[in-house]
Amino acid sequence: MDHITHWIDGKPWVGDAERHGRVFNPATGEQTAEVDFASETVVDEAVAAAAAAYPSWRSTSLAKRAAALFALRELLASHVDDVAALITVEHGKVKSDAVGEVARGLEVVEFACGITQLLKGEITENASSGVSVRSLRQPIGVVAGITPFNFPAMVPLWMFPIAIACGNAFVLKPSEKDPSASMLLAELVAEAGIPGGVFNVVHGDKQAVDRILTHRGIAGVSFVGSTAVARHVYETAAREGKRVQALGGAKNHMVVLPDADMGDAAEAAVSAAYGSAGERCMAASVLVAVGGCGDELVARIKERVARLLVGPGSDDTSEMGPLVTKEHRDRVASYLDIGAAEGASLAIDGRELEVRGDPGGYWLGPCLLDGVKPSMRVYAEEIFGPVLSLVRVDSVEAAIELIAQNAYGNGAAIFTTDGATAQRFETEVDAGMVGVNIAIPVPIANYSFGGWKGSLFGDLHIYGPDGVRFYTRGKAVTSRWSHIARHHASLAFPNAAASERRE
Ligand code: NAD
Repeated sequence: MDHITHWIDGKPWVGDAERHGRVFNPATGEQTAEVDFASETVVDEAVAAAAAAYPSWRSTSLAKRAAALFALRELLASHVDDVAALITVEHGKVKSDAVGEVARGLEVVEFACGITQLLKGEITENASSGVSVRSLRQPIGVVAGITPFNFPAMVPLWMFPIAIACGNAFVLKPSEKDPSASMLLAELVAEAGIPGGVFNVVHGDKQAVDRILTHRGIAGVSFVGSTAVARHVYETAAREGKRVQALGGAKNHMVVLPDADMGDAAEAAVSAAYGSAGERCMAASVLVAVGGCGDELVARIKERVARLLVGPGSDDTSEMGPLVTKEHRDRVASYLDIGAAEGASLAIDGRELEVRGDPGGYWLGPCLLDGVKPSMRVYAEEIFGPVLSLVRVDSVEAAIELIAQNAYGNGAAIFTTDGATAQRFETEVDAGMVGVNIAIPVPIANYSFGGWKGSLFGDLHIYGPDGVRFYTRGKAVTSRWSHIARHHASLAFPNAAASERRE
């Protein structure tokens, strides 16, 4: 069995290791590794290593920092399959999905390679006679990232490439459920020539997180996970005076209008609801059928799901893998009984799945609940598994209002052939990311990713331009170097008109 420990100061770090977690292969139910849980002392050691590395890293030229990012890009591109294999073993998602996750993370590294361009400031020449004003963006110091189980490579890659490109030092606390991908990322960072201490990994649970949130040496925290923990992270870190962005859970609506291509919409719904076993924050978990197209959607989804291959991620023919843990599988499955008791009908029951893999795996097939109403728990709560809820409404206005009333606002999608309706939807819908005939509208890396309402606490979205803003702080420099630099004592507040009069 593997033993996974921390990564501090450019090397594996065995700390006091009094507490451990168990890592399982969800496709078999077997324990594959034991992971050390960081005590407060280990977190302090990681922060100390980052703080020691920070001054020289922030003064390393942009040319050298960009070169290191280019090297990381090459290394990651040549290890996509290795990272993906670790994800499949510990998370359970199928290989093609794991490869896709790494590819989306790689995009962020590529974005960060452009740091020389991204950190360009502005200048106003001759703001007053001989006076120029410049704006700079500077790193904020040691920053931490706390990440969820469902994207063990991509979500850390949303954060640290931009943070370190901006000149910060980084401490990552990945999910304790699938920690191995972050260790391979740490090795690649070191191989890319990024100095020890600039990127560190501490494993653990609430104890490590809470130490990060209150550590005075940490200037900023990026968090991605469930809404309850996101709120705790946001409130605690903000109270401690840190910059914080905390991305939470989701309940994404996919709205289908009667004029849409039903075959296309049903295929998109199956991909978006059941891909990665529904364990995606951008999964479509609510299908909103407008104006009577619900029956046709149900029939088409049933037909496609009957052919969907659920099995171990290591088998290239599998389209959907197991859920991440037994507890999570049982919790997700319990919503089927809750939904039935609330009056929804179970159009597809994933518990009847004939397993193509090890019976010890955490299996649950695709599920479809029909006749779901907004008052039901299955509608209101994030299930985070392969359970799609179908809600029927009369009009696009009702669909927009339904989304507005939902507690979450990560993504929303509309399927239609009517441009005016699509335009109205994208303008009015209460969500941070919108898809038009696209079911999973995750923005590419030179835009930023973020939801609204209970899906994000904080002001800035993650990666892209907002990532650069989050990991830097602004400075404005007003300077005068010309012969006019003779000071005339004046107690009035400096302003251009007064200086012009003096001259
Ligand atoms: P989680 O909230 O349980 O865990 C996220 C991180 O917080 C982990 O590193 C975990 O160790 C830590 N943590 C857990 N409980 C904690 C506590 N009580 N105090 C302090 N730290 C704690 O989330 P998860 O189950 O790993 O991931 C799934 C959730 O993440 C879903 O809700 C999903 O929607 C969300 N998610 C959101 C986005 C987004 O971009 N909005 C992206 C991916 C996942």
